Amino acid sequence: MRSPLPDYLTEVLDGCADTSGAVADYIPGLAGVDPDRFAISLLTADGTSYSVGDDETEFTIQSVSKPFVYGLALQERGFEKVLDVIDVEPSGEAFNEVSLERNTGRPLNPMINAGALAAHALVLNGRRSEQAVESIRSLLSSLAGRELVVDEEVAASELENSYRNVAIANLLRGYEVFEDDPDEIVEGYIRQCSVTVTTKDLAMMAATLATGGIQPVTGEQIFSRDVVRQVLSVMATCGMYDAAGDWLSTVGIPAKSGVSGGIIGILPGQLGIAAYSPRLDEHGTSVQGVAAFGRLSRDMNLHLMDAPMLAHSVLRRRRVVGEGDAALTILELQGDLNFTNSEGIIRAVVDEPVETKRLALDLSLVRAILSVGRRMLLEMIGRLHLDGTEVIVIDPDERLPDPDAGYGFRPRVYGSLEDVEESQPDAGAQTEPERGHSARK
Ligand code: GLN
Repeated sequence: MRSPLPDYLTEVLDGCADTSGAVADYIPGLAGVDPDRFAISLLTADGTSYSVGDDETEFTIQSVSKPFVYGLALQERGFEKVLDVIDVEPSGEAFNEVSLERNTGRPLNPMINAGALAAHALVLNGRRSEQAVESIRSLLSSLAGRELVVDEEVAASELENSYRNVAIANLLRGYEVFEDDPDEIVEGYIRQCSVTVTTKDLAMMAATLATGGIQPVTGEQIFSRDVVRQVLSVMATCGMYDAAGDWLSTVGIPAKSGVSGGIIGILPGQLGIAAYSPRLDEHGTSVQGVAAFGRLSRDMNLHLMDAPMLAHSVLRRRRVVGEGDAALTILELQGDLNFTNSEGIIRAVVDEPVETKRLALDLSLVRAILSVGRRMLLEMIGRLHLDGTEVIVIDPDERLPDPDAGYGFRPRVYGSLEDVEESQPDAGAQTEPERGHSARK
């Protein structure tokens, strides 16, 4: 069978055809591009690529570099330093607006030029400009999974017309947001914006944010999960400048646009998406790109705020095996143990108290236990123990490693129900954890 996905994406390309808008002309190097180019690329979190249209066309990354350079600054300089220099509040203004906090001059967020110039200075960190640009180029290359280069021609043409960015950089220098030469910051920032990419590269970069920082194809951990969470939060609130609220309510995913016509979007845990089409709307965002994202979001239910289908019960089955003192209540759990699911398990035990002396939590079908789920499960085990119920755990895949329920109690751990049945029914609580067949006598 041929995958229907490329056919679907082609249909989206055709359905979003629109010749309105205009190519950015304030950067002369951009004015000459073919306005009819249009491409969409998707990359799933497990590294599968679907891509249609002009996905081999190279264009300069422009503002789509901002979230990644912000991530690099966070990674290299730490959260405290970066948050001290750049705020995370939506400005509601255009990308090149002078949006600085009153009195301090702190840029409102890292997605507008003021904040991006400051983020570039944080990466520069007193080094030579070439070194900062190289570390950014190399970061973007690892994210894309191939060596990217700076289009020096576009950079030079923007540099000659960078009055606005020079003004912002001088203002930032005046407020001592950074101590470097403002011209050097502008030049480095403009070269950062001139790294050339295709939509396939951008989808790969976006997907690396979708996976919590792991490049889905090379497997390299490029950003920590904390950095990714911060970057995605700022993209969600500020990534689309003065259209950020409209974008979040209609498309509903963290995104970033650039004046060359690229847009990336990230569905955390699932997908990186990129679109390219150079005609821009009044916000400096690709007209066809916005249409494509809107369509993908609607068709594919990508909106993050869509109420999820009611989570199916994590308690798959409750049953009692054996009789008398050997009777055992088994709670078969399934899925992911987040707060809500763990609350459901606790409620099941509170509302319908366990009447046998022993209770088994069967985690065989549990996929993942978040730290909140672990804490809640262990607390429940500890409290049941205090009430006189001996809890054991069936955990073949070690979803709950080294369980210490507190109150001086550690539940026995078995690999399967058979292992439980073969063991002594009244073996009692252990002070040391034991696993699987080692619990047999
Ligand atoms: N290099 C461009 C600028 O600073 C990037 C702006 C953008 O893509 N929105 O003006």
